[in-house]
Formats: sequence, structure tokens, C-alpha cells
Amino acid sequence: MSCLFCQIIDGSIPSTAVYQDEQCYAFADINPQAPVHILIVPRVHIASLAQTGPEDTAMLGHLMAVSAEIARSKGLGAGYRVVANTGSDGGQTVGHLHLHLLGGRGLGWPPG
Ligand code: AMP
Ligand code: ZN
Repeated sequence: MSCLFCQIIDGSIPSTAVYQDEQCYAFADINPQAPVHILIVPRVHIASLAQTGPEDTAMLGHLMAVSAEIARSKGLGAGYRVVANTGSDGGQTVGHLHLHLLGGRGLGWPPG
């Protein structure tokens, strides 16, 4: 299996787990861009948000709901950001759909 995040999900590459259920796995980003930087990843391999369709609506909603729950558990009451970098212009570097949950400091806008 060549996909990095599939290998993290199956445990063949180590990660620091934050949350998991039957649909998704969340773990600490190895190169954090904020005091809290967590990746929320569906267990199913989908390359990016651009490859999703109506059949993925429930899974995508679940990833967002899990992100909000993790943000609550991390005490991010002052706010946070949830991002799905998509494709080359979107800055995506790992070809397995994932949400970034970033928080713990003020975040600039627009992104660079
Ligand atoms: P993106 O650039 O949106 O595709 O995000 C990929 C993210 O995966 C980056 O923030 C990386 O720091 C992170 N990352 C890459 N390898 C690992 C790893 N082995 N464990 C945890 N996070 C990783
Ligand atoms: Zn994968």
C-alpha cells in the first residue's frame, strides 16, 4: 500500500491518535502550524475533496462534526479553522482526503 495516510490508518506508520471511530481517524500533524494541529482522515481512501460526490455527503458531514467535537475537547473556545487543501493550487501534498483542524493562536486571512 503506497498511500501515506492509509498506512497511518492501518498502523504500519506510527502516529499520535487523537480520536477514532468506524469512519475516520484523527491524529497529530507531524509538522504543526499552530499549537493545535490535527488531521481528520476518512478510513476510506479518497484522493481529495475534488473526488467526492453526493454519495460522500454523510462521510464529509461526519468529518466536520468530528472536527468540531475535537475542537471542543481541546478547549478551542476562542475559535479555530478547518481546512481541506485540495489539489496543487490548494496546497495539497498528501493524496488522501483530510481536514486540518488548526487552533490555539490567531490565524491570518487570507492564506498565503
Ligand atoms: P496537505 O499539505 O494539506 O496535503 O497536508 C498534509 C499534512 O500531512 C501536512 O500538514 C504534513 O505535515 C502532514 N504529515 C505528513 N506526514 C505525516 C505523518 N507521518 N504524520 C503526521 N502528519 C503528517
Ligand atoms: Zn489513502
